Amino acid sequence: MSLLTPDSHSKTTTTPPHPAPTAGKSKTMSGQTNRLHPKPGTQHDNTRFWQNAHLFFERVYQTMGLDPVWKQSLSTPKRVLTVSCPIRMDDGSIQVFSGYRVQHNNARGPFKGGIRYDAAVDRDEVMALAMLQTWKNALVDLPYGGAKGGVVCDPKKLSMGEKERLTRRYTAEIMPIIGPAQDIPAPDAGTDAQIMAWVLDTYSMMVGHQELGVVTGKPVSLGGSVGREEATGRGVMYILRRFLATQNKSLSGMKIAVQGFGNVGFHAARLLEEQGAKIVAVTERASGLFNENGIDVAGLAKHYKQTGTLEGFDEGDALDNDELLACDCDILVPAAMENTVNADSAPHIRAHVIVEGANGPTTPDADEILRDNGVTILPDILANAGGVTVSYFEWVQGLDNWFWDLPRVQTELQRVMDKAFDAVNAKADEADCDYRTAAYTIAVGRVAEACKMKGLFP
Ligand code: NAD
Repeated sequence: MSLLTPDSHSKTTTTPPHPAPTAGKSKTMSGQTNRLHPKPGTQHDNTRFWQNAHLFFERVYQTMGLDPVWKQSLSTPKRVLTVSCPIRMDDGSIQVFSGYRVQHNNARGPFKGGIRYDAAVDRDEVMALAMLQTWKNALVDLPYGGAKGGVVCDPKKLSMGEKERLTRRYTAEIMPIIGPAQDIPAPDAGTDAQIMAWVLDTYSMMVGHQELGVVTGKPVSLGGSVGREEATGRGVMYILRRFLATQNKSLSGMKIAVQGFGNVGFHAARLLEEQGAKIVAVTERASGLFNENGIDVAGLAKHYKQTGTLEGFDEGDALDNDELLACDCDILVPAAMENTVNADSAPHIRAHVIVEGANGPTTPDADEILRDNGVTILPDILANAGGVTVSYFEWVQGLDNWFWDLPRVQTELQRVMDKAFDAVNAKADEADCDYRTAAYTIAVGRVAEACKMKGLFP
């Protein structure tokens, strides 16, 4: 039997009406459609993701009674850079990779956001992720604006040498718009501490001195922060634990399914298991495992590292991503990619709580179905903000040349995450709305306020 029931949590009530996505109708001075607004009607996944990011924003902006003057500028990224990176491959041929850096808004501080390496990256996806990053940074009250980067490549198919040359070239191409006071990249899907080390070294070589503050998620041996690698998963755990406490419940014995077994999914599963939860299902892109008695996360990680698949681990049965979403569990943690929880899968979800480890996993139509079904969603801009929070700590440590120990990082992270959850929870109570609406209301309000106080230049 499930430990949570739909009526055991309250933030599922009010659904503000979805306005038709109007942003795509915006015109430039010459009457052309503004290409930095989402194009309505398209079926492409990434474009839909950009439309969806807009929809959540517009829905909240309309109900907040904010000055409409700032809506237009918050709807579009401030800067979009597309670069082309020619790389010598190991076989001697030259391959050209496309890359992006999108800077959405910097009213509250320097731009900040990760770099994604994935074959499906395109400009719309990076624009959507940059916008989400602006809201996330504001929600946890970091002195940052939002940005995102991406390179169209399959990192699993590149050798270490090819990845290094690609990273160095991409860094050199985006060099004019990044810097410790300007825009600070970090890891995202498909990138890691090694890649951040190459970003640091390339930037530092070009400016003539070591510039620790230009990138976060670096290896600890190169000015990275202890606790950064697990920070997003740890933040997921803190937010879920805090939410359950409002229901007088704990993680102990909760049955949890985790989609995605990369940085976020693995650490979230590991830390939730450490808190007494039972991880009953895990998937990655092409394989998955189910065990109603609970999976040994460390053992599965070892098996995955050795074999490249979750299947064949002797403790459970194979399952695919559709089966994971519909499996018998109390809590679902989508920690893979955007749009994985959609109108097709939402009606079959049996979990009563969804904690969004990934960015944008739930589409707006699925969001509505789930809310109608009494499912509580702890939204991405709150639940996965632990990574950027410890990135902020790393940036502060690098600028100070004064490094913290792990207990300090974890204590400060918990303080930030708990405070953000409490603010969202209070807003949801006050406005009688769901957690996503509450989180957006706080975040968008803060960014709009900063825009208003700054005014326009010139
Ligand atoms: P990762 O590359 O380390 O892992 C991604 C995992 O998802 C892999 O296990 C992959 O096999 C799986 N996957 C990919 N597509 C899938 C699909 N369609 N269905 C099921 N599984 C799929 O990436 P990550 O760093 O763990 O990031 C995961 C998500 O979390 C992304 O949305 C990312 O933007 C978000 N996020 C990451 C961080 C961070 O610090 N790394 C911070 C905040 C948010």
